[in-house]
Amino acid sequence: MVNENKKVRVRFAPSPTGGLHLGGVRTVLFNYLFAKHHGGEFVLRIEDTDQSRFVAGAEEYIFDCLNWCGLTPDESPVHGGAYGPYRQSERKESYRKYAEQLVADGSAYYAFDTPAELEEMRNRFKTAESPSPQYNYILREQMRNSLTLGEEEVARLLSEDAAHVIRIKMPTDETIVFTDMIRGEVAFHSSQTDDKVLLKADGMPTYHLAVVVDDYLMKITHAFRGEEWLPSAPVHILLWKYLFGLDQMPQWAHLPLILKPDGNGKLSKRDGDRMGFPVFAMNWTDPKTTETTQGFRERGFLPEAFINMLVMLGWNDGTENEIFTLQKLVDKFTMERVHKGGARFDYEKAKWFNHEWIKHLPASHYQPRVRQLLEAEGISVPDDGQLQKVLELVKDRCTLLPDFVQQAGFFFKTPTNIDTAAIKPKWDEKKNLFFGEMMLAFDLAPSWQHEELERTFKELTAVHEIKPGELMLPLRIMLVGGKFGPGVFHVAEVLGKEETIKRIKFTLQLVQG
Ligand code: GLU
Repeated sequence: MVNENKKVRVRFAPSPTGGLHLGGVRTVLFNYLFAKHHGGEFVLRIEDTDQSRFVAGAEEYIFDCLNWCGLTPDESPVHGGAYGPYRQSERKESYRKYAEQLVADGSAYYAFDTPAELEEMRNRFKTAESPSPQYNYILREQMRNSLTLGEEEVARLLSEDAAHVIRIKMPTDETIVFTDMIRGEVAFHSSQTDDKVLLKADGMPTYHLAVVVDDYLMKITHAFRGEEWLPSAPVHILLWKYLFGLDQMPQWAHLPLILKPDGNGKLSKRDGDRMGFPVFAMNWTDPKTTETTQGFRERGFLPEAFINMLVMLGWNDGTENEIFTLQKLVDKFTMERVHKGGARFDYEKAKWFNHEWIKHLPASHYQPRVRQLLEAEGISVPDDGQLQKVLELVKDRCTLLPDFVQQAGFFFKTPTNIDTAAIKPKWDEKKNLFFGEMMLAFDLAPSWQHEELERTFKELTAVHEIKPGELMLPLRIMLVGGKFGPGVFHVAEVLGKEETIKRIKFTLQLVQG
């Protein structure tokens, strides 16, 4: 599937119309991995020819997102490159000649129909079976275009600058076949597709023309995109055939859909809102409604976990392995192992990946984000070294980054909300005495290490003839505030002598009171 003499060049070609759905990021990821696996180049092209769909901030969002994921393009409007400009709106002038060439060759035609005429056509031909009739090989015969009007009339309209578009002339009876890298041979009958507009009245190409021309000019060898683009493939293949020859055409791969958790249809942003999980990569605020859709990043996912989770939605390496670094994925990724069927999204599994990555990475990796989260909760963290130690101690207990607020916060802020209800019912004078003596013993301990503290504690329980188990929970609640956290003597070690004793005293007063 890869020609050794031709450098692999792939492209991600988003239309900047909003936040990136996780399916979009997975398309980026598969592009990136394939390119890097073959020592090729990954191009990012902004497909912004439909100016009515322009959304402020959407392009920046795409770059921020790729940045966060660590999937840096080799060429893009931001990174430059030899095939620029990489924004289609800035390439406007390069498309007309291809559209005109198609007209000259008889593969496309001028259409002068006004919006009112198009509307009239739809109303006239609509039936119960076909509620929105299409401008196709049958109806084009009824419309005002260069196929139906005389040559002179067409020349006159053009010389008068009459508004017109250029449409592809779909063959009436042709089977269009291509080999998709994932689904094998795919065939379409030409009559099923309408005569798509290629060049609009304002001189802008539509997506169909621009995608083919740019894939050609940018020397793209493999084009991966979501399955929703499969119905457009016959138009693109014909354009390739008419303009550049099929031997120049990139190999196509239409990636399977990401499905709702119940497997019933494509996962949408609304499913996320309804079921309480993110679907976008990062927070996206719609500039019109100012409504924010939450993203994986803000929910507390690590980019490593996010892309690891994404790659497993539709790919595996043929083993039971599930945890992969980006570099490992670059080494292992092949299209042969991409599944044909849709992949079900499972939020619990996504969280599992994050938990694995939080455990696996050194805490220094996500320490700055955790610091921000703690500070946002009013917990100030004076010392990086101390924070690192704490994060290492509690990371096994965290699934999403905000979990660190509960799991690490009490190290830096004396808990005020102490769960005394959990110890009061079994509290007695013996325990009171024990903790009084334990404070003295701790004060005299030769070193402030968890092993030493545990030994001191256990010796004292033996002297007092109380089971250590009965005293551990009260001690934990004294230091942590609740029934959670890592080993209690580790907690004491990190807190230090003064703070440990202060917290014990404080709770003793509460339970006695
Ligand atoms: N501009 C299309 C999109 O927004 C790209 C489709 C393709 O990759 O051909 O998804």
